[in-house]
Amino acid sequence: MAASLSADDPLLKQTHRDFISGCHILHYHRVLDAYGHLSVRHPHHPDRFIMSRYIAPATISSERDLIEYYVENAEPVDPSSPKGYSERCIHSEVLKRFPDVNAVIHSHSEAVVPYSISGVPFQAAFHMAGFLGTQIPVFDIGKHYEPGDKKDMLISNTRFGAALAACFAPEGGDSSNEPAHAVVLMRGHGFTVQGPSIMDVVLRAVYTQQNAGIQTTALLTRAAHFGPGRQGSGEPGIVYLSEEEAEGATDMTRRSANRPWRLWLREVEAQGLYVNMA
Ligand SMILES: [Zn+2]
Repeated sequence: MAASLSADDPLLKQTHRDFISGCHILHYHRVLDAYGHLSVRHPHHPDRFIMSRYIAPATISSERDLIEYYVENAEPVDPSSPKGYSERCIHSEVLKRFPDVNAVIHSHSEAVVPYSISGVPFQAAFHMAGFLGTQIPVFDIGKHYEPGDKKDMLISNTRFGAALAACFAPEGGDSSNEPAHAVVLMRGHGFTVQGPSIMDVVLRAVYTQQNAGIQTTALLTRAAHFGPGRQGSGEPGIVYLSEEEAEGATDMTRRSANRPWRLWLREVEAQGLYVNMA
């Protein structure tokens, strides 16, 4: 048995159902392809979390595809569970570090990766991405390799996972268990986003990707009109959301998250590719 079967447990059943739909939505919106993953904290056991077995997120279809892990060490609760994702330590360490975080997504979005390698600061460019704020950390795994580590960029152990999770904490607030950032970019790899629920974290992932597209278009548009290298030469710069605007917009998206979620559910339910039997 991979995950607890939920026949007599409405809350766990709904969690499984939302988890599978969340994976489908993330694929439909191209936040995930064959790679990347969603996790959710177990609704009854906060020291456990749920992920899928080692398959593409679009093809997850029942609770038999799900595995429960311990937050402490990312090991499966049932040792006979099928193979899982090698990067599940991203999820375990973020969930361990921040008790109020209940869902995590890791994506290789091609719209976002350029901001992890170019030195161009990524920030909230429109109101649906206020949760990004004005400063988004970039995690560089190159600073955390030790002798003997395989340099394949993957967060394949709890040490790398803990270093990534620390980037969500406030500057200088190493012991804080309240995240200061919703999103952390990962150099040459992608991004990780945290949230209080599956619905919230899916919304954040989709709009993180949209924000990257908008910011890139703004940068290109500005350069095409004013010419490159003209920042500070008198022409207006790109106007991003202020700290206050980002905070206000974060509240707005949290209050209204049910609206896109219900649309996105209908979108994936209308596609033959996606099956949700949970
Ligand atoms: Zn990855």
